[in-house]
Amino acid sequence: MEFSRHVTDGSADGIEQELSWQIPLYEQLHRHPELGLAEHETSAAIAAKLAGWGFDVRHFGGTGVVGVLANGAGPGVLARADMDALPVTEATGADYASAVPGVMHACAHDMHTVALLGAAKYLAEHREGWDGTYIALFQPAEETAAGSQAMLDDGLAAGVPQPDVALAQHVMPTEAGTVGTTPGPILSAGDSVRITVHGRGAHGSMPHKSVDPVVLAASIVLRLQTVVSRETAPGEFAVLTVGSVQAGATANIIPDRAELLLNLRNYDLGLRARMIDGIERIVRGECAAAGSPQEPDFEYYDQYPLTSNDPEANAWVTAAFTRTFGADAVYRTSPQTASEDFSRIPDAFRIPYVYWVVGSVPPDVYRRAVDNGTADTDIPANHSPFFLPAVDPTLRTATQAQVAAALAFFGPEAGEVQA
Ligand code: ZN
Ligand code: ZN
Repeated sequence: MEFSRHVTDGSADGIEQELSWQIPLYEQLHRHPELGLAEHETSAAIAAKLAGWGFDVRHFGGTGVVGVLANGAGPGVLARADMDALPVTEATGADYASAVPGVMHACAHDMHTVALLGAAKYLAEHREGWDGTYIALFQPAEETAAGSQAMLDDGLAAGVPQPDVALAQHVMPTEAGTVGTTPGPILSAGDSVRITVHGRGAHGSMPHKSVDPVVLAASIVLRLQTVVSRETAPGEFAVLTVGSVQAGATANIIPDRAELLLNLRNYDLGLRARMIDGIERIVRGECAAAGSPQEPDFEYYDQYPLTSNDPEANAWVTAAFTRTFGADAVYRTSPQTASEDFSRIPDAFRIPYVYWVVGSVPPDVYRRAVDNGTADTDIPANHSPFFLPAVDPTLRTATQAQVAAALAFFGPEAGEVQA
């Protein structure tokens, strides 16, 4: 089939043409980043484009935009991009660097957005090559873990046709032109915890009249290290970071409370539950040991679900990528310790999903850094003020990946796992 060759022979002529409008749009979005739930101009630009290509456009969760393109009785494929920027001051020096002080697309969500738009336009203009319903979903506020839930709370699940599979991707500081997939966990579940422990304040010269929350907090920080080192089996993945400890304001006053902020990451929800039990047990135990006058308070926030790829759907997508990019450009990625709120969407529809990563560093730069053993220090990663994907081929690869992954389910080679 002619269309099939277009996207599977690696030359992807059609996608080349899309780059002529995609690159200026990418630079425009990069220059005008918008923070989570405030993606007003980004959202309006997306909605206008989708409508112009014949998509049925709907809005959920404020700035969330969904375009639905019904094209026959085949499967429904939902593809999602995030749109929000970060409170970071850009330092890349790019001529399309952010014009908004203190706000930057430092996580490539502008790239995800323009790649998904490219795929949407391509599929809209090549309807003879696939059979099904394409749902292009643009989500706000990924960085605060609020956006997918905001869209669901606003009726997303009942407001679009039921899809059969969901797709999403993320640009990473790996070699541009490559894509990484894996069955099973690819991003961790993440939780933040605010713990307040209570002491009894006193003059700094009269410690015997106090219950010192500074000493209590210090003891908790050390003891919490054993949740991973002593209570989690070697080889199981778990992260527990105490990112903030706050107590008191001056040298000669013992304060009456301390606040600790923790961050947890897991690939296994059973282990996550055991870690939370361990944290609460240790904090309560240390408070009892200190004679704390009041039970500690636990507040859980910024909670991200686990992202774990369906093995069969991942095999279809991986085979499609291998046909599109060649075997050398497709690798099996190890799970990332970062987290995402994407999986709430397929979980709400009770459908499988595939999430993959796309490289963004010029191959010569990447290989030199790997050869020198300096990839982790020399290559700016996501959220760095210096993070700057190579526009080409990253945008081309990300767009082709979205097209190829959708066709893996409703294209002429749907369901083929032999590359
Ligand atoms: Zn990010
Ligand atoms: Zn991101």
